[in-house]
Amino acid sequence: MRVALLGPPGSGKGTHGKGLSAELRVPLIATGDILRQAIAEGTRLGLAAQADVKSGRLVADETVLGLIETRLGLPDAANGFLLDGFPRTVAQADGLASLLESGGERTLDHVVNLMVSAETVVNRLRERWLCGSCGAIYNLSSKPPKVAGQCDLCGQALKQRADDEPATVRARLEVYERETAPLVAYYAQRGVLRNVDAAGPAEQVYGAIRRILV
Ligand code: AMP
Repeated sequence: MRVALLGPPGSGKGTHGKGLSAELRVPLIATGDILRQAIAEGTRLGLAAQADVKSGRLVADETVLGLIETRLGLPDAANGFLLDGFPRTVAQADGLASLLESGGERTLDHVVNLMVSAETVVNRLRERWLCGSCGAIYNLSSKPPKVAGQCDLCGQALKQRADDEPATVRARLEVYERETAPLVAYYAQRGVLRNVDAAGPAEQVYGAIRRILV
């Protein structure tokens, strides 16, 4: 199954993507994670992307399309994938469509649109902490770690994302409205859009996505 998770930062793409990827047995491909890793490793991709990622701007379409083309070409993506944070512009969606067509595949099977208000997003991201080692996601109000500052799964230290501070989140939301929100109509037109109310508790939202995909 070929699926993309669409929604503003903080709508739950990463949180739900992890569980869905395991259940559907397809790799979770998160362009933000790939870019952050490249930045941490200081690769050429990382150096090119770091200023944009830090300030919440989008990395150039050609750069992101190049990394997606490479990633989708790996054997584990042959029978499906779950995209998180890609596509983020109409140009990226068109690029993805050409890529899939050239591989003899149809378009995406489902685009899950996680709908949540800007206010909820700012509040959620202010309280978001991540494991620096395994990437597990916590929220101080709705999903606190058992021991403060420490990952339940692997015991490593939790950290916040630099771009989760409220001013940068607001910039990312503006970028989302301008560049990414048009994809809602784009995929509705193609008959693959599945809207999900993503404002409620994580388990409830996960259940709603599951009913669509599993
Ligand atoms: P995310 O983890 O999805 O919130 O992405 C973090 C940052 O990485 C974004 O604010 C962008 O700077 C960059 N990024 C991730 N995915 C894309 C994409 N598909 N197109 C352009 N920039 C991206």
